[in-house]
Amino acid sequence: MNDLRAVAFDAFGTLIRTRSGAADSFRVTLETLGYAVTEHVMGALQAAAEGLEHRDRSGTRDAYMAWAESTSQRLRRGDPLDGDVAQAVIPCLEELHQVPMAAFDDAQTAIDRVVGTGLRVAVCSNFGWDLRDALDSAELRVPADASVVSSAEAGARKPHPKIYLHVAEKLECSPSQVAFVGDSYRCDVEGPREVGMRSVWLARNAGHPASQPPDEAAAQNLHEALDLLGVAASGET
Ligand SMILES: [Mg+2]
Repeated sequence: MNDLRAVAFDAFGTLIRTRSGAADSFRVTLETLGYAVTEHVMGALQAAAEGLEHRDRSGTRDAYMAWAESTSQRLRRGDPLDGDVAQAVIPCLEELHQVPMAAFDDAQTAIDRVVGTGLRVAVCSNFGWDLRDALDSAELRVPADASVVSSAEAGARKPHPKIYLHVAEKLECSPSQVAFVGDSYRCDVEGPREVGMRSVWLARNAGHPASQPPDEAAAQNLHEALDLLGVAASGET
């Protein structure tokens, strides 16, 4: 596709998933700390963290870890899940309680396809500081020159514009030269578009959520997403 220079993938739910297949490890962690955690509470915690800018917490890995540790202490103390605690719970769990990850079956071949067509790769996720280590532990080979951006390091969580602009900056591309692919319609489709990126929604095994416009094309897997972006299949040039 004209002027496309890079493809940015979301990580969780797009390239990697929990090794156990269980998606509720954060809820279980909170329950072991004594909180009664309904689906509504988990949704409220996710909403409280969505789009959060936390640049003052993200200057260094040590500073970010200190924020996670202090939140963890407050949780162990039983502080109510509101206000700034609510905003910090999901980032804290991502940093301190992330469970082992495995790659989706199509993740490696999709990354290889992007590289094979001469495009740059980025990974951009609301995630703890060591996103590249998580990708490595999932045995995903991400190119050394890939732009790997976690919210922890960027100081802002999707769909805050700063995290997408940080990706483009690291790629030395303008946003219009970057295509974003991911499983969250708000964070991986709408957010990138708001800064001028193109994007494709990945709907693995899912119907269209109510928030998705009916005329929006959805990809069932990563290769369909790359097809929609016009990235040549392996062997094509
Ligand atoms: Mg995701």
